[in-house]
Amino acid sequence: MTGKTLVLSDFDGTISTQDIGHEVIKRFMKGDWRELDDSYASGKIGSMAAYRRIASLMKAESREMAEYTLGLNTMDPTFADFYRFCKQRGFGFKVVSDGLDFYIRLILERHGLGDIEFFSNVLRFNGGFSVSIEFPCSNDECGRCGTCKSMILQNERSEYERIVYIGDGYSDVCPTQYADMVFGKGILYEKCRQNSRACFHYSNFRDIADILDRQ
Ligand SMILES: [Mg+2]
Repeated sequence: MTGKTLVLSDFDGTISTQDIGHEVIKRFMKGDWRELDDSYASGKIGSMAAYRRIASLMKAESREMAEYTLGLNTMDPTFADFYRFCKQRGFGFKVVSDGLDFYIRLILERHGLGDIEFFSNVLRFNGGFSVSIEFPCSNDECGRCGTCKSMILQNERSEYERIVYIGDGYSDVCPTQYADMVFGKGILYEKCRQNSRACFHYSNFRDIADILDRQ
């Protein structure tokens, strides 16, 4: 590859092999999770609207959520090597997540990767088991997603010539249209195929390093 490269990666289901956000919400939300999840998956509501409802129905305090999160703790075993690979090649690396900062920070730090920059929604513990969710990376012009990954990607254009995008889910579909190279699995890979969008399939981060090395 020539020019300055940035690798942007999703977190849930991508760096973490499990969807931690999904599990945390299921565990701590007191209400009908399935209906809300279906509305999001079918595109009836965006993630910001879903998170607003989730925050009003979630009962949690930080210690219990931290214990639960670290109990799940399922990072792709090839990810730390991939992060080192990016550093060695001089590639920038950042995480873009429509999940919550609380568990992303905990898991990255637990693996000694706390220096990785990430963009996500922000969970606040307000005491008395009440929480709120803030959206520092939302896009007022669209307003669907809590974190607008497309906007973050486009903002990075001023610094980077090539942007590589890695993901697996619904929130990754939109930003792939602005990326130079896409790695997908799961829902993202299927959507790229449907939309005739070039996309390399991957199973883990070692596959991605192998393909990047051949470019
Ligand atoms: Mg994901």
